[in-house]
Amino acid sequence: MLKTYFKIKLLAPVCWLYIHSDICLQTSVINYSSSILSSPIEYLKGVGPLKADLLKKELGIFTFEDLLSHYPLRYIDRTKIDAIAGINPQTEYIQVAGRITGIEILGQRSSKRMVAWLEDGTGMIELTWFQGIHWVQKMLHEGGDYLVYGKVVFFNGRPQITHPEIELFTPELKSGKSFLEPVYSTTEKLKAKGLNARQIARLTSALIPLLSEKDLYENIPGDVLQALNLMPRYEAVINIHFPKSFEIYEQAARRLKFEEFFLAQVRMGMIRGRRHRKSRGVVFEKVGELFNSFYNDYLPFQLTGAQKRVIKEIRADTAKAHQMNRLLQGDVGSGKTIVALLVMLIAADNNYQSCLMAPTEILAQQHFNNIKNLLKDLPAGIALLTGTTKQAERRLILEELKKGNIHILVGTHAVIEDVVQFNNLGLVVIDEQHRFGVAQRAKLWAKAEVPPHVLVMTATPIPRTLAMTAYGDLDYSIINELPPGRQPVITVHRYETKRASVMDFVKTEIKRGRQAFFVYPLIEESEKLSYEDLMQGYEQVKSFFPEHKYSISMVHGKMPAEQKDVNMQRFKSGDTHILVGTTVIEVGIDIPNASVMVIESSEKFGLSQLHQLRGRVGRGSDKSYCILLTPYKLSNDAKERLKIMCATNDGFKIAEKDLELRGPGEIEGTRQSGMLNFKLASLVNDKDLLDASKFYADAVLSADEELIKPENTGLKSFLLSQKGKTVWSKIS
Ligand code: ADP
Ligand code: MG
Repeated sequence: MLKTYFKIKLLAPVCWLYIHSDICLQTSVINYSSSILSSPIEYLKGVGPLKADLLKKELGIFTFEDLLSHYPLRYIDRTKIDAIAGINPQTEYIQVAGRITGIEILGQRSSKRMVAWLEDGTGMIELTWFQGIHWVQKMLHEGGDYLVYGKVVFFNGRPQITHPEIELFTPELKSGKSFLEPVYSTTEKLKAKGLNARQIARLTSALIPLLSEKDLYENIPGDVLQALNLMPRYEAVINIHFPKSFEIYEQAARRLKFEEFFLAQVRMGMIRGRRHRKSRGVVFEKVGELFNSFYNDYLPFQLTGAQKRVIKEIRADTAKAHQMNRLLQGDVGSGKTIVALLVMLIAADNNYQSCLMAPTEILAQQHFNNIKNLLKDLPAGIALLTGTTKQAERRLILEELKKGNIHILVGTHAVIEDVVQFNNLGLVVIDEQHRFGVAQRAKLWAKAEVPPHVLVMTATPIPRTLAMTAYGDLDYSIINELPPGRQPVITVHRYETKRASVMDFVKTEIKRGRQAFFVYPLIEESEKLSYEDLMQGYEQVKSFFPEHKYSISMVHGKMPAEQKDVNMQRFKSGDTHILVGTTVIEVGIDIPNASVMVIESSEKFGLSQLHQLRGRVGRGSDKSYCILLTPYKLSNDAKERLKIMCATNDGFKIAEKDLELRGPGEIEGTRQSGMLNFKLASLVNDKDLLDASKFYADAVLSADEELIKPENTGLKSFLLSQKGKTVWSKIS
């Protein structure tokens, strides 16, 4: 029982799982499953088995409810009519109204087309059809008035619309009383089978009159609705499909966006709350000898204010009897490791063991060395366990761990997960979380009777909005301050044609006693290719930096771990001037003497990766440089990425931009999240609504943590009704 519980919690971003298995039905709830909304889509008039099948396959519409939440992509305002004379080469979609002054069938067989000319008093435009001519011919009459919508293309210098949407320009339309008409996304296949955007609109408009306010009962508590002046749900759903005006559309959209965020915040708030109330946790009662001696006598620098604050937050959290599950965010170089160490010392002071997991051998090694150097002669047992630990030593470590003589175990996840048994594991620190699989964490959890506290440290800042949604069930600390004296890394973009001068620059830095990285992209799908790229790059670097004067190390993923380590170590200790590598050097490596980071083909890297790589320099107090090399031809997105890299060193700003450019689904580490399936709300454009939703979700839950009060019945019922509706395909 206990085990399942922990495994579920591990899937932190996928917290619906937890909700599904755990919301208990104590209150009277509205029975939602008997609602008309759960009717199969084929029961809707005008659908039938064939169309139903297509709707399921093409759009995932299985029930009435699915159709109802297939929101319009956009709306056509039938009252807004463009003048033909106003069309210019920049014009995209237009809506014009006028008289058909001529119709002709041109061409033969396969090149057969029908052309009609439409005049509106300001000019004339050609309308062209290649398909369905027979049908169009029937509905189009010379001398008739029509309303036309479509994309303008220029052919032989004349504007035309191919396959326009066209309808009779009736007196009602002319009187301008018509409203916004919804346009739904559809597919070519559906269009061919009689389900184009307008036909889908017909289905929706057939469905809506069948629904009562009870079917679309309110799921936001009355107080919140009132405080934010939100449209009731029933009204909002109807008006998102068929808004009577633009203002009403905006109100409906605002309400539904808020609802999406609010429900997600309530779900996660409940998970968090339950963990706080119900989970058992190890108690770190005191701050003892180890922590105090280290803090007072060994700490080589003053902690930043942010570091102190975070340690206090963690300290408070681990002193209560619930399990801490905390995400620690901080920019590259903000000093997360020392925070982890201090917390591990608190664990040791309370006779609990800690385990620090790193994604790579090199990083584990670095953490171990750092910690050893920092702790000096303090009586704390520490050990390093990685893939290269020798058998005899491994046996010894495992024994000592079981006895409880090792207080801090540093290692790579691959090693720690399987055989290792602790005496009393109290804290797990996971460094550079983005690289960690969910499954690996699961194995670790199963190791303790009472679950250890968990501190996850992220490799790259996550935008606030994403952290709130994808990781909203976790507690959250942030180091928003760099240690004093750090200079921002000077970042420039250079074309490859300038490589020679870049190399000259690197030479002057080396002459000043500094070291340089050269990084080549490693693209997973074409590892072979990038390996060749790397080898070529290595040769090229060697041609600029001849062996008799310069020494170069190389590391890449295909190298045996030991050799990688040796090469890395040589660079770290200053034996080599240059390190050529793939992104294996991306995460965490700390080499303060390195002052230049040259990133080859940098257009191929994502923003967060570039930022991580850049974070490898600028770790001392001297000026450091990051040079982004690219070919001349660049996509707009790549240009945008390079621009932002040159403009700022702030990881949080970069993360925001990344979210803007790529959308939440693509941000590393959050891909599995079912929490990000917002249909209308946007993490980029609706930040205010997200903040409000968090505020009100917290308020509702702090007054009624299990939603048992009558005013929260609708909310609770709705959450329950969503049971099993997670997009399972997104959860791996
Ligand atoms: P990251 O947050 O990227 O993991 P690290 O923990 O590796 O950063 O810290 C980066 C460097 O900053 C290390 O060399 C560390 O010793 C140093 N450092 C950490 N905190 C401070 C501080 N308060 N003052 C000065 N240097 C610090
Ligand atoms: Mg780190």
